[in-house]
Amino acid sequence: MFFPFYFWKVTSLYPAVTSGDYGEAGTLEFLKDFHRRRLQVLAEARPDLIAFETIPNKLEAQAYVELLEECNINIPSWFSFNSKDGVNVVSGDSLIECAKIANECAKVGAVGINCTPPRFIHSLILSIRKVTDKPILIYPNSGERYDAERKEWVESTGVSDGDFVSYVSEWCKDGAALIGGCCRTTPNTIRAISRSLNQYYPAP
Ligand SMILES: [Zn+2]
Repeated sequence: MFFPFYFWKVTSLYPAVTSGDYGEAGTLEFLKDFHRRRLQVLAEARPDLIAFETIPNKLEAQAYVELLEECNINIPSWFSFNSKDGVNVVSGDSLIECAKIANECAKVGAVGINCTPPRFIHSLILSIRKVTDKPILIYPNSGERYDAERKEWVESTGVSDGDFVSYVSEWCKDGAALIGGCCRTTPNTIRAISRSLNQYYPAP
């Protein structure tokens, strides 16, 4: 994950299975037990922010919300989901339902999308806006495809930095408040995003 906000100490909690398919083990209690100690250890390190990212389904979002309450975590956090179709989160659960869960938790400061191809981001922002007034963050991947069997990214299926950045003003108009890059983006991508944001929000 790259962000121009390099002065933040950000730590992240990542799902147990990125597809969101946990089989019979996929219960709320299983997920809470899996993440509880990890969350406590991260919180004890006193980061400025905890990023719950690449959240694949509703159940994992619910588990995080309950752990934030039960562990009495008072460090700001954001919830970020990922999608492979521009409509639902990656497990097939409704993004709107997932965003509602994040919206209802006072401990969640922002809601958004990460590790998702840039071409899907516009419609996903509009879905999230329907159910929250919290700031919306997005940090898409390069648009390349991840081959889960070979456990590697397939090169040259993505968009160039220029193409990525051509989306930035649209995402701003859609209401994105925080914009960055996830897998396979580079410092060059972030530089290009920063230049684009400077044009969109010129210094006074
Ligand atoms: Zn990623």
